[in-house]
This record gives sequence, structure tokens and C-alpha cells, in this order.
Amino acid sequence: MSDETIFSKIIRKEIPSDMLYQDDTVTAFRDINPKAPTHILIVPNYVIHTMDDITEKDEQVLGHMLLVAAEIARKEGIAKNGYRLLINCRDHGGQEVYHLHMHLFGGRQLGPMLAR
Ligand code: 5GP
Repeated sequence: MSDETIFSKIIRKEIPSDMLYQDDTVTAFRDINPKAPTHILIVPNYVIHTMDDITEKDEQVLGHMLLVAAEIARKEGIAKNGYRLLINCRDHGGQEVYHLHMHLFGGRQLGPMLAR
């Protein structure tokens, strides 16, 4: 599998996105097809294809993704009412982009955790 993803191009600003945050480790930008009033993606700056590919070397970046997500949720004004973080893994998880990413959803009552 190629290490290059659509998200790599967004991270390098080679294609446009509504980017909210970037540091040496992670990038956050609005989802192009939002499924909630607030729908933001938090991605590591290097490619990890899926949750099934993480190793101990990724531990710090994965923890950092959570801290950044919580900070963005506060800045977006959705922290008080609450929000949802989601990572899809492979086919059954509904993963479309094989560059690990965390979804941050909020801005409305999100309903039950999963469709039956
Ligand atoms: P997944 O299903 O892999 O967990 O989620 C991939 C997400 O990436 C989808 O919600 C989709 O709308 C979003 N996405 C795919 N391509 C682009 C893009 O080029 N720009 C942005 N901002 N989001 C994208």
C-alpha cells in the first residue's frame, strides 16, 4: 500500500482544506462531507494506515490526537454539551481513507452510538 494519501496532500497544503490546527505531529481540518454541524478530522502527520497498524512508536502521537481533539472541541464551543470521537478501522469499521484519523462530531444530539 502506498504511503501517499489524500490526507498527506492536505497536511502538506498541496490541496485546500479548512485547516484548524497543525503542529509537528498532527493536523486537524473540517471534513469535506460533514455528518454533524461540527465534523473535524484529526490526523497524524505521517501515514499510519489503520488502527491495526499502530505500534508502541505511535503511542505519543495517538495520545496527542486526543489532547488536540479536546482542545478543538473547547474552541469550537461544543465541549460543554458534549461530542463524539470515532476512529474507523478497515472494511467493517467503514474506513474510506487509509490514513488513520479521528473524527470529532458535535453541535447536535448525536443519537445512539451505532445504527442497528
Ligand atoms: P473514514 O470513513 O475513512 O473514517 O472517513 C473519511 C472521511 O474523510 C470522510 O468523512 C470523508 O468525508 C472525509 N474526506 C475524504 N476526502 C476528503 C478531502 O479531500 N478533504 C476533506 N476535508 N475530507 C475528506
